[in-house]
Amino acid sequence: MSPTRRSFLGSLGGLAAGYALAPALRAAEASGKPLGLALCGLGNYSNGELSPALLETKNVKLVAAITGTREKGVKLAKLHGFDEASIYSYDQWDKVAANKAVDIVYVVTPPGIHAQNVVAAFGAGKHVICEKPMATSVADCDAMIAAGKKAGKRLAIGYRLHFDPYHQELVRLAKTQEFGPFMKIKTANGFTLRRKVWRIEKKLAGGGALMDMGIYSIHACCMATDANPVSVTAKELPKTQPEFFTEVEQAMEFRLEYANGAVADIWTGYDANRAEFYAEAEKGWFKGEKPVFSYRKLNIWTSAKGKLDFGVFRQQQRHMDGVAAAFRDGQPLTCSGELGRRDMVIIDGIYESIRTGKKVELKYA
Ligand code: NAD
Repeated sequence: MSPTRRSFLGSLGGLAAGYALAPALRAAEASGKPLGLALCGLGNYSNGELSPALLETKNVKLVAAITGTREKGVKLAKLHGFDEASIYSYDQWDKVAANKAVDIVYVVTPPGIHAQNVVAAFGAGKHVICEKPMATSVADCDAMIAAGKKAGKRLAIGYRLHFDPYHQELVRLAKTQEFGPFMKIKTANGFTLRRKVWRIEKKLAGGGALMDMGIYSIHACCMATDANPVSVTAKELPKTQPEFFTEVEQAMEFRLEYANGAVADIWTGYDANRAEFYAEAEKGWFKGEKPVFSYRKLNIWTSAKGKLDFGVFRQQQRHMDGVAAAFRDGQPLTCSGELGRRDMVIIDGIYESIRTGKKVELKYA
C-alpha cells in the first residue's frame, strides 16, 4: 500500500467511512494495469473512431486484431505498437484464446455476424464488447448472453452514449424527475444512404434504417422515460428508391407507448439527414438538434440550463475506459447485453407491427 493511501485511510477514523469509500478506492488502486483489447472487424468504425480513441484510453489498450485483411491489421499493429503475430483471421479463435494479453474482444462487424463472433470470443475465454445493434434476432441475443455466462465473462454493448455527458444529463433528469416525468417525446434519426453496403442486405444488417439509426432514438426514449415501452405501433414509409432498398425498409415511423402514459413518436430513415430529439415534461424540456446521437459537438439544450457544453472529448475513449474498468473491477454496467436484448425485443415488435398493421404489446421475458 502506498504511504499516501495508508495515511489517507488512517485519517478516516472509522470503519463505516472506510466501507463507504471502498469502491472508489478499489477503482483507483486497480487503475494501474490496462486490459488488452482485440478489435474484431477493421472497417470504418474501428479505424475511424475506435483506433484513435484507443490511443487515448487509460484502462484498455489495443494489443491484437482479428480481420480478413492482414494489411489492415499490420497498419494498426504499427500505430499501436503491438506484435504482428497478434493479427488473426476470423477462424483463428484458438490462437486468440492462447494470447493471454487479450482480455477483451470488441466485435465491430456487421450485425448479422455479431452472434457468431461474440460466441466465438466467449469460447476463447475473453470478455466481449459488441457493437450495436447487438444482433439481428432475440434468439441470437439469448445465445450470446448464455455463452457469456457459460464462459464466466462479461458482455457490453457499444452504446457509447451511456458515457456521453449530454445523454447522461437526460438520464439524470429522468431519474431525479427534476422536470417531472417526460410524457411527450418526438425524435428522428437517419441519413441518406446511396452506397451499396451491408446496411441494405437483410442477412447482414437484419433490417434497414431502424436497426442502424432508429435504435439511437429508441434508446434515448427509454433513457428519458427511465422505462421500457409496453407497446408499439409502426408503419413503413413509401420507398423513394425501391430499386435500391429491395431487402430492407428505407424509412418508417413508429410510436412507443409507456406504462405511465408517456408517448414517443419516432422517424427513422435512409432518405434524409436528420437527427432530432425533444422530450417534454410538466416543468421543463430536453432538446437536441443535429448532431444529437453522433460522436462530437452535440447540440443539446435543457429548459433549465440552456445550451449544454461539456468541452472536447472522445465518447469512444470514455466508453471503452468505462467498460474496461467495470470488467476489471467487477462493477455493474448499464450498457449490458440485457439492454442490447431489450432493444432487439422492441425492434422485433416494430417489424411485427409493420407486418400485421396492428399495435404490438412488447414482452421482455
Ligand atoms: P464497415 O463495413 O465499415 O466494417 C465492417 C467490417 O466487418 C469490415 O472490415 C468487413 O471486412 C468486416 N466483416 C467481417 N466479416 C464480414 C462479413 N461476413 N460480411 C461483411 N463484412 C464483414 O462497417 P462499420 O460502419 O464499421 O460497422 C461495423 C459495426 O459497427 C456495425 O455493427 C455498426 O452498426 C457498428 N457501428 C457503430 C457505431 C457507433 O457509433 N456505435 C458507428 C458505426 C458503426
